[in-house]
Amino acid sequence: MEEETPATISTVRMKGAREACRRLPSCERYVRNARQRLVGRYIGRGGPGEGQVVAAVIDLRGRSYDDYIGSVKRLYKGNVIRDARKSDRQGFTCKPFVRAMCLPDIVAINRSKPERCGKPMRNEYLKTVEAMGGAPAERLQLAPPDCPEHYDIWWGVFAPSPGHVQGDVVTDERLLAYIDLRRLGSLALYSLILGHGEYLQHGIMYRLHFTIMEWILKRQDAAARGIEFLMYAGYHQGSEGLKLWKKKTGFEPARLVDGDGAGGTGPAFGREVALRSKLEGIWKKLKGLI
Ligand SMILES: [Zn+2]
Repeated sequence: MEEETPATISTVRMKGAREACRRLPSCERYVRNARQRLVGRYIGRGGPGEGQVVAAVIDLRGRSYDDYIGSVKRLYKGNVIRDARKSDRQGFTCKPFVRAMCLPDIVAINRSKPERCGKPMRNEYLKTVEAMGGAPAERLQLAPPDCPEHYDIWWGVFAPSPGHVQGDVVTDERLLAYIDLRRLGSLALYSLILGHGEYLQHGIMYRLHFTIMEWILKRQDAAARGIEFLMYAGYHQGSEGLKLWKKKTGFEPARLVDGDGAGGTGPAFGREVALRSKLEGIWKKLKGLI
């Protein structure tokens, strides 16, 4: 019988660090939505809840990228590092991208396999380009998130592809895989993750994951600083292949606990957001008068 790694208990603070979060209305939305979707299911209130899903988590605290890669090399003889290099040998590159710029490629990825993990694709993965917002009519520039502690950053693997287009825009590259990295204060999670069925053999998902880990652990970008935990759904969820993928990349079982205290986003957080919006409104009006 397989030996079970005991789950650790880890406290997350989704409201983010006081000095770093910009306390925007969008921050409050992120926290509110996360509370609805995650608390009670993946994150316990006050302590691990009864029947709470054991999350797949990488503890990032005090770790460097080299430490992380060193620990992954010790697992499964480092096969995943070799797999990630296959992607590099194909000339593929990884970077953040503007989701709206790549919708046709995203739809192609979503439809590249009729089923994943032995199950048919969920409806949200079967949407058309039009239903997702339409193909781009112009080039859109990537901008830093409004708040460095609350955001979705889309990361992709790209293959050079001269003449490739998305809508009216010539991109000269094709998106092969994506991860929607969502940050909620000290917790980041893989909100959406998918690769094109025809390219999975080239190690693209490992490559993408390691690129994101490197970005987080180098902590040079304000949006990467202060992330303490990376979560990818449940540790025991998914097919055998997916569970093995999580183990090989260093995800460990953890029971997450909400460290922001009870009471939803909390009246104090809401008041702070409201006050800030009001002040910004006054400031804009003043600027208009000058
Ligand atoms: Zn924020």
